Amino acid sequence: MKKVIVIGGGLSGLSSAVSLLKNGFQVELLESSPKLGGRTYSLKHPKFDNMIDNGQHILLGCYYATLDYLNTIGSEQFLSKQKFLKIPFVNKGGKVSYLNSESDNYPLNLSKAIFKFDALSMRDRIKVIDFFLDLFFVDENDHKNQTVEQFLIEKKQNSQIISHLWDILVIGALNTTIDKADAAIFIRILKTIFFEGNDASSIYMASTNLNDLFINNAVDYLNNHHGIISLNETVKELVFENEKITKIITDKREILEYDFVITSIPPYAFQKITNNKIIPNLDEVFSYSPILNVHIKLKDNIFSEPFYTLLESDIHWIFNKGKHITLVTSSAEKYMGMDYNNIIGQFCSELKNYFPIFDVSMILDFLVIKEKRATFIPTKKTEKFRKNFINNYGNLFIAGDWVNTGLPSTIESAILSGQMAVNSIGSI
Ligand SMILES: Cc1cc2nc3c(=O)[nH]c(=O)nc-3n(C[C@H](O)[C@H](O)[C@H](O)COP(=O)(O)OP(=O)(O)OC[C@H]3O[C@@H](n4cnc5c(N)ncnc54)[C@H](O)[C@@H]3O)c2cc1C
Repeated sequence: MKKVIVIGGGLSGLSSAVSLLKNGFQVELLESSPKLGGRTYSLKHPKFDNMIDNGQHILLGCYYATLDYLNTIGSEQFLSKQKFLKIPFVNKGGKVSYLNSESDNYPLNLSKAIFKFDALSMRDRIKVIDFFLDLFFVDENDHKNQTVEQFLIEKKQNSQIISHLWDILVIGALNTTIDKADAAIFIRILKTIFFEGNDASSIYMASTNLNDLFINNAVDYLNNHHGIISLNETVKELVFENEKITKIITDKREILEYDFVITSIPPYAFQKITNNKIIPNLDEVFSYSPILNVHIKLKDNIFSEPFYTLLESDIHWIFNKGKHITLVTSSAEKYMGMDYNNIIGQFCSELKNYFPIFDVSMILDFLVIKEKRATFIPTKKTEKFRKNFINNYGNLFIAGDWVNTGLPSTIESAILSGQMAVNSIGSI
């Protein structure tokens, strides 16, 4: 039986390990921290009774690799799926406008959803419908030198449509702003979400925490298939000689016995353990964007929808778990240096602007989580690099949400990258 060492226990590493075991390989997974899940995890905090997720982690019906992974580990029962696409957009003052496809009469239901989306004027709604009709004929390769902003302007989307629709969708999907994001990846994901049937655009939310959904059953799967998990073990160096990895040096031992190695770590960690040798200057390609999560414990549940998005606000999403709500800010650079009391003060006044019923006296406690390198930023430069990316160097295979999946920095990209690495090994 061929043996594979998987480095990194985030979702790309877990997906690699699960796929390898499914395909009859022997697996050892090395993870430097005491926990699995990488950027996707839950924690127990004394301020809250329930487990806290480090970020909401919305999934979509077009997360095909993720759904396959959840099915393999037996976690699909923890997913709850929206019957139809329904997103409540809240305006300052509290008016709620729904983007709601209402029926399964695809694709007419999507046009109807836009037609009834009263955050925009009727003229602008028609411009958005025109945009989608035109998108069918758009080839992303014709727009690879553009930012999303340049593409939207070319497609006659005015500032009102941008601020009341595209800004929030782009920042939610790509964790960056329209002036930085690459147009080609944006076109690709719009087509995947909206042109592949009703299910593709449905939003899935976990009915439990992220550990239950992604991690705990994967650990059981690994244990039941004789996979080995080594936590608290950091890979310090991959010795690359004669076009292959000849030795793995960790902070505890040297590993010489394996057939293949899969790295499932971010670019900056990959550079460190390969001494910048295998893919020179990788650090110059990737930059990162933060996400801020503010968890608030309320006396009462004052929200009726499971989530909201706020128009023209720094609070991009609110997720409602009853007396526990989470406020999410993507591309949150300006909050990284701000202290927690300032953040909560600012966000409370913002909440009051959008939900006048809210009052600061309703707050029992709060917790701020800053994730500085939450995702890489999908710029023209990264996407050009990723398009030509090679994930195989001798016995080394590279996974991680940043490889050539064609997707933004997401769970789907991470899980797909693990499956791609295993397929590449299988084809040797
Ligand atoms: C707050 C937040 C919200 C998000 N929201 C969403 C969302 O709504 N939807 C979505 O699809 N995606 C979301 N994402 C993105 C998603 O979490 C990531 O794309 C995905 O988890 C990346 O997985 P990965 O395995 O590629 O990398 P990681 O999760 O970074 O895993 C890498 C692992 O490797 C380990 N490691 C690193 N170096 C070494 C070493 N030398 N030796 C051993 N181990 C090592 C690390 O400890 C880590 O566990 C969000 C991310 C954050 C932070």
